[in-house]
Amino acid sequence: MTTGTRAHEAATVEVHGVHKWYGTHRVLNGVDLTVRPGEVTVILGPSGSGKSTLLRVINHLEKPEIGHVSVNGELIGVRRHGDRLKELSERAILAQRSRIGFVFQNFNLFPHLTVLENVAAAPVATGKLASREADVFARELLDRVGLADKAGARPRQLSGGQQQRVAIARALALRPGLILFDEPTSALDPELVGEVLEVVRDLARSGTTLVIVTHEIGFAREIADRVVFIDDGRIVEQGPPAELLDRPRHERTKDFLSRVL
Ligand code: ADP
Ligand code: MG
Repeated sequence: MTTGTRAHEAATVEVHGVHKWYGTHRVLNGVDLTVRPGEVTVILGPSGSGKSTLLRVINHLEKPEIGHVSVNGELIGVRRHGDRLKELSERAILAQRSRIGFVFQNFNLFPHLTVLENVAAAPVATGKLASREADVFARELLDRVGLADKAGARPRQLSGGQQQRVAIARALALRPGLILFDEPTSALDPELVGEVLEVVRDLARSGTTLVIVTHEIGFAREIADRVVFIDDGRIVEQGPPAELLDRPRHERTKDFLSRVL
């Protein structure tokens, strides 16, 4: 890479005993999860089981009521039984979040900006790159996701698959050590899923730590180091794809897989 800030080290994520409530509704019910540097973790689970909330907790968009999360050993939102023990400052949280990429189901591109501006915005806004360097780097990233020719287009002129590839390029612009994907292909027409998965596959090979919520079981089998099945706010079981997908031990996992496979 000729431009850009230095790549962040592939991140380690640790989730310890996390409970999260919305009002009286407990959405995460004692989640423990460790993701090692460069590992690809796929999270499966029924709708409403807490998958998105878990990603939001990892990205510090939500704070757990109990338990804690660390990314690269830095604790986040430490609270035990209501006692605030230690929390990162807002500034430290923003710094951490800038090292974490987040790709959403609905792309969330800035509609009024061009594709190039969407990708170049964050490195400039965070002071990591000067505007001209950010443009050069954004073009490299667009090339990497196969969209070099769309730099001047607006998001609405692109297909869903192309928009999601722009969103991935945008996530890469801050050189994250960790990328979280929340159902990156579930808003896409079936014929557009493959082009997005191909980009994710390329990232998986690059050694970045990835946590991916998806219902694409075949894809999980192919790229995951570990598959985690979550139901009702708890991790029911986890393991290598060949174990969890082919020999699930728990009834709830078997039932879920029989419905999505
Ligand atoms: P999943 O991604 O597995 O479908 P979510 O993590 O989005 O599940 O949601 C888990 C549960 O928490 C659902 O019952 C959902 O309605 C609820 N929930 C999610 N976000 C909020 C929120 N901001 N306020 C209140 N309830 C929420
Ligand atoms: Mg979700």
